[in-house]
Amino acid sequence: PIVRAGPTFGGRPTDIAAADARAVWHPYTPLQSPDAPLAVAAADDEFLTLDDGRRLIDGISSWWTILHGHRPPAIMQAVRDATHQLDHVLFAGATHPAAVELATSLLGSMPWGPGGRVFYSDNGSTAVEVALKMAYQAWCHRGEAGRTLFVGFEHGYHGDTFGAMSLSRDPVFFGRFEPLLFRALQVPLSADALDAALTHHAGEVAGVLVEPLVQGAGGMRLHTPEELRALFEVTRRHGVPFIADEVMTGFGRTGSLWAFEQAGIAPDLVCAAKGITGGVLPLAATLASPEVVAAFDTADRTRTFFHGHSFTANPIACAAAVASWRLLQTGRWRTDVRRIEAHWLAAAAGLRKLHGVKDARVRGLILAAELDVPGGYLADVGRAMRLAALERGVLLRPLGNVLYALPPLCTSDDSLARIADAMVHAVRSCGL
Ligand code: PLP
Repeated sequence: PIVRAGPTFGGRPTDIAAADARAVWHPYTPLQSPDAPLAVAAADDEFLTLDDGRRLIDGISSWWTILHGHRPPAIMQAVRDATHQLDHVLFAGATHPAAVELATSLLGSMPWGPGGRVFYSDNGSTAVEVALKMAYQAWCHRGEAGRTLFVGFEHGYHGDTFGAMSLSRDPVFFGRFEPLLFRALQVPLSADALDAALTHHAGEVAGVLVEPLVQGAGGMRLHTPEELRALFEVTRRHGVPFIADEVMTGFGRTGSLWAFEQAGIAPDLVCAAKGITGGVLPLAATLASPEVVAAFDTADRTRTFFHGHSFTANPIACAAAVASWRLLQTGRWRTDVRRIEAHWLAAAAGLRKLHGVKDARVRGLILAAELDVPGGYLADVGRAMRLAALERGVLLRPLGNVLYALPPLCTSDDSLARIADAMVHAVRSCGL
């Protein structure tokens, strides 16, 4: 059944798009956008229901947040139960069962012995900020405060806060803020380039930050587990912390619970967010290895990690995350990722044959097609492809000339076929 939730202001039905245009400022959207925002009334499984009754397939899991599907019953029940117990409590000097259970579970999936810790925050960017601050402060405690340089990779994206921007430095997203960013290196994603940078800056580097296996917002660029392992080995040779930004790739999306597992490596810090709650509530976690923790593990108050947010470890979000973790424990996600990946491999072969497609690639839940046009993120083909996919009832949001899908695990075979069809239609509509 179609849910209609017409917005009412003071009891009078109004046009939500017009009211939105008078009051709301949207992310990554010009204020004078030619496209009104989609007015979304409801969601279930892989579908969004719009205010006007249209049903769309959420082909990108609402910015890679929704993991199992929209409103998974077990998570929604856990959220309802949690609201009967505890809404929120400060997390300095207080704790609650959901935060403890979640941290214990997350640490259990890490390739470390005992002694690791989980630090909570509430979005992917802050999970990265926390990792950067922890890595640097750990060096300070070891008497190497001069290690102020972080190394990231070309085409990396780690979020929109200042530390995350400094490590991403995409000229379109962040060029404007360049004068305000701190010094960091972006090297080509290769072991040789990393080795050269760490050799040149010996004794200066605080950490290396990488999106394992897939650089997401930078264009769904893939590298192999072997390449990832080679990067890790360079950091071991130079004694520099390896920080895995699993904000997009975590929780099964690339075919393993954590993408770094495929490389058989043990990062020093791991950043998680987006799918951690199944995508239904904001929460993030920075996981610190025993070696990082050891630098802080003292009663000396000057060695406190001075960082925290009002909503650190919100109990309702943690309850959602515990429920999502339990869903993952059933192992059903592995079957779904394999099913979706098989579908995508066939779809990629079809996309590659289309005129104007330079490359089509697949990793786990991700299918990406890169168009052979200049212009990067601001390329006009991005908008054209988004609108074309909407005509076919599929919500996609191309990264400029890179059209991609990343649907939730529950997406049916029929919906996968519709997404693939919408991608073909979107590419053809560009008239290349
Ligand atoms: N890191 C990666 C790899 C991401 O893909 C993103 C968001 O897309 C972030 C960090 C930032 O996460 P958030 O948007 O929750 O701040």
